[in-house]
Amino acid sequence: MKCRKCGEKASLNMRQHKLALCKEHFLAWVPEQTERSIQRYRMFSRDDRILVAVSGGKDSLSLWDILWRLGYKADGLYIDLGIDGGHGYSQESRRLSEAFAASRDLHLRVISVEHEAGAAIPEAAALTQRGREKPCSLCGLTKRHLMNRAAQEGGYSVLATGHNLDDEAAALFGNTLGWRVGYLARQGPVLEARPGLARKVKPLCRFYEREMAAYALLRGIAYIYEECPYAEGATTLYYKELLNRLEADRPGAKLSFYLGFLRAREHMTFHEDGKDKLELHPCPRCGQPTSAPGECAYCRTWSKVRLRLGTITGGEA
Ligand code: SF4
Ligand code: ZN
Ligand code: ZN
Repeated sequence: MKCRKCGEKASLNMRQHKLALCKEHFLAWVPEQTERSIQRYRMFSRDDRILVAVSGGKDSLSLWDILWRLGYKADGLYIDLGIDGGHGYSQESRRLSEAFAASRDLHLRVISVEHEAGAAIPEAAALTQRGREKPCSLCGLTKRHLMNRAAQEGGYSVLATGHNLDDEAAALFGNTLGWRVGYLARQGPVLEARPGLARKVKPLCRFYEREMAAYALLRGIAYIYEECPYAEGATTLYYKELLNRLEADRPGAKLSFYLGFLRAREHMTFHEDGKDKLELHPCPRCGQPTSAPGECAYCRTWSKVRLRLGTITGGEA
């Protein structure tokens, strides 16, 4: 297989795009395509200050690298969840994120959940869920809260995440299976700001996971290979597998599923109603918008954690 641009040996054959490229041309193609998505979906301009949510994985580090190569003003935010999983998951992903930032002289803000909220994610989940479930819902709401807060405190105009096409197609698949119209209404490359909530963008939403893995590898980006230990068995991974099977038979199916949805969305209106409707008011404790009747889920859950932590310490003392 030869590179379409120069005729040299291709490093990557992308059947879904009917395009094969050598290393050099692939590494130029990725930022070009990212720039096209940034323009097409009006994500941000070179005057904007961007905060990239960095997890230490291939997608978020690649995103930061691409924005840096394109000359955007992008700082990073790493949230230390305090997850060990037997191989120091958080410690290692933090170390790799810090090393990446240092190698390019970029600014990385590190927030530790334990420091900010009072306990690491697994510890807090054990206190509030009694170990019955995975800590993912607590983790998700905590990350969203801290990301919004960091974006606002730092005066950033936009928060960028490394979601790729596989992530977006799997989320879309799940939302469509359950016809969660509220989620469908909000799913897309750009989520506009609401009072108290930062604008969110996904510049990698048109890249296959495989393309981002190739980009990270060919750019020599050191990232964490292991998934979070709690990711195993997640429904999203199951949907990703199903979509991969479909993709193997019909190259391009994932991309057309997602892009077809974005096109359809321009002509259809998904009404946010019923249980999906988001009627927001500021949380009386932290000020971030919430649809809950009183305090937001973040404040309620973490007060419970701190209360239990206090009880335990008090009881043991
Ligand atoms: Fe958090 Fe890990 Fe669950 Fe992802 S898989 S939400 S990082 S606990
Ligand atoms: Zn080439
Ligand atoms: Zn709150």
